[in-house]
Amino acid sequence: MNQYILLSFDVEEFDLPLEYMQSIPLKEQLHIGNIGVQAISTILNNPNISCTLFTTATYAIHFSETIRQLAQKHEIASHTYYHSSFENAHLLQSKEALETITGKQVIGLRMPRMRHVEMSEVLKAGYGYDSSINPTWLPGRYNNTHLPRTKYTEEGIKRIPASVSPNLRIPLFWLSFKNFPYLYFRKLVLNTLKKDGYVCLYFHPWEFTNAINKFALPNFMKKDAGEILLEKLEKLIKEIASEGSFISIQEWLCLSNK
Ligand SMILES: [Zn+2]
Repeated sequence: MNQYILLSFDVEEFDLPLEYMQSIPLKEQLHIGNIGVQAISTILNNPNISCTLFTTATYAIHFSETIRQLAQKHEIASHTYYHSSFENAHLLQSKEALETITGKQVIGLRMPRMRHVEMSEVLKAGYGYDSSINPTWLPGRYNNTHLPRTKYTEEGIKRIPASVSPNLRIPLFWLSFKNFPYLYFRKLVLNTLKKDGYVCLYFHPWEFTNAINKFALPNFMKKDAGEILLEKLEKLIKEIASEGSFISIQEWLCLSNK
């Protein structure tokens, strides 16, 4: 079958409370990130699934053995050095740190919170692709409705946006997955897959642990955290598996020679 499901997780320290003026020590951010990774092990160990794990160097340094093992089956790509702060030098530094830990080349980048980054800097740091675009309108965050919905090239870097539905550009990302009715989300995924031949979905491991519930975050971010959300994602994976192969973004780019 020539349809592909590019499942990705942003593997990171859980620093979301900082955005809502709550303190959380780095040690606890890392701990919650890690129990999230353990929580999704059924997905990560599924023999039919290869995904892309956008990992901060900070996380990878603290859990280097886990990341080394995951790199045998999944693509490890960069989610920069620190989730909470960024400067352009971190592009190369995070790439090198991840390559040292995994022993494999790192070609992909996704910026924390999909923040803007200059493609000339991404190219200079030696990356091949960037997946830091959500080509939709997210009130208070960004308006990217003018950008292509599917893969394009900018200044020598392939850009693989997170998928949005055709026409209305409804984002198929973590917040819509947890907040939309399941069947509606699945329908949007299947429509997008049919139209584009691939779908690029993204989540965070920490969504799948109820350890995030003690923080004062908006309910639309915490909804169903833990087992309920995990079962929902496992159900989606099972139900769309006949419609496409779960491969990493790196594999997909190679396959399609894009
Ligand atoms: Zn992130």
